[in-house]
Amino acid sequence: MKDLSKSNLGLSPDTLAAQGLGWEDAETGAVIPPVHLSTTFARDDQYQLPTHRVYARDGAASLDQAEAMISAFEQAQEAMVFASGLAACMAPFHALQPGDRVVAQSGIYFGVPTWLDEFGDAQGLEVVFVPGGDEPALLAAIAAAATALVWIENPSNPLMDVTDITAVAEATHRAGGVLCVDSTTATPVHCQPLTLGADIVVHSATKYLNGHSDLLAGALATRVQTDFWERIRRHRYLTGPLSGGFDLHLLVRGMRTLYLRVERQSANALAIAEFLEAHPKVARVRYPGLPSHPRHALAARQMQRGFGGLLSFHPKGGRDGALAAANALQVIIRATSLGGVESLVEHRHSVEPPGSGVPDDLLRLSVGIESAEDLIADLDRALAQL
Ligand SMILES: *Cc1c(COP(=O)(O)O)cnc(C)c1O
Repeated sequence: MKDLSKSNLGLSPDTLAAQGLGWEDAETGAVIPPVHLSTTFARDDQYQLPTHRVYARDGAASLDQAEAMISAFEQAQEAMVFASGLAACMAPFHALQPGDRVVAQSGIYFGVPTWLDEFGDAQGLEVVFVPGGDEPALLAAIAAAATALVWIENPSNPLMDVTDITAVAEATHRAGGVLCVDSTTATPVHCQPLTLGADIVVHSATKYLNGHSDLLAGALATRVQTDFWERIRRHRYLTGPLSGGFDLHLLVRGMRTLYLRVERQSANALAIAEFLEAHPKVARVRYPGLPSHPRHALAARQMQRGFGGLLSFHPKGGRDGALAAANALQVIIRATSLGGVESLVEHRHSVEPPGSGVPDDLLRLSVGIESAEDLIADLDRALAQL
C-alpha cells in the first residue's frame, strides 16, 4: 500500500486524510479503493500464501488502510480498528491480568464505567473511580498504589471535563501503568494525546472519524509497540470484534473529510456556545472553548484548531426546562450519538443508567456542519418557549 505519511514530504494530516494516504491501485490505476469483501485468500500450489493475507480476521486491505490513516492522524506507531467504539474501549481491559488495579474517571461515556461495575470483579480487577474535574484526586488515586491502567476521556462526554493529559501520563508511568485516553470528542484534528504522553488513544470511530452516522467502528492507537499492545491484538484476533468490508470502506471514505468536517463543526459549536452563554434563558454552558470553562487555559494548550463540535448546556427551569427546549427544536434532531454532519440534541439523563451523575437539566449538543445561523435561530426559537 502506498502511504504518503511515510514519505519525506512533511505533509499535513489534512492532505493525508483527503488522499487516503495516497492510495492507488497498481493494476487498474483506480484512485479510490474497491470494496474488499473477501474473507479468505487463495494459496499457491505449494500451499503457500502469495501475499501475507490469510483470512479477514487477520486483516484485510480496507482494515489496513483505515488503521494506517488513524495511525497517521494520531502520530501513533500502530492503530487497530474494531467493530465498535465500545469493542475498542474494552479491549485494553481484557488484556489486563487478575489483580490489576484500574483507575478510571467517572462521569464519562456510560459504557466503560458500566462494564467495569458489572464485569470488573469477575475479571479480578480492582477498580477505583474518580470524578472528572477533580484532577488532584485523580493524581492521588493513581499514586496510591501500583496501577496497571488509567482511563480518562478528554473532553469528557457529556460533562465536558478537561484533564491534563501530560500530568496524568506522568503519574500513571510512575505507578507502573499505561494511560488510555478516549479522545473521541477531541478528534485527532484538535488533540493528539500520544504526543502529550498518553500510551493508547481510543476512538469511537462511529462518531467524528466516520462522521456520517451510518456505521459502528472503534479504534485504538499506540505511541509505541509493547507486549501489552500485542496482547490486545491477540485478544482481538481470538475474539473477532472486526468490521466487515462495506463498513471499512465507508470508514475510509468518511475519514477523507475528517479535517474539513471537524473544523466546521468546531467553528459552529463555538458560535453556538457563545450565543447560549449570552442567552437569558440559559443557566450554564459547558464548552472548553469558552473562557468561562474552568480548564479553558489547559484546553487551549492541549488542543489546536478549535475545541470540538460537542457542548452541553443547562437551560433555565430544571429538567422540565431542558425537555421543553429540546422538544421545541425543529432543525436539531432529538437523538443519541454525536460526531455526524447533522446536529443532534440529547437529554442524557433520560438515557443514562440511574445514578450516572448526569444532571437532569443538561442538554448535550452534537453540532453538525449546517449553517451556524440556522442552528442558532433554531435554539433561539426553542429557548423563547421557556
Ligand atoms: C459513543 C462513544 C463510545 C462508544 O462507541 P460505540 O461506537 O457507540 O460503541 C465510547 N466513547 C465515547 C466518548 C463515545 O462518545
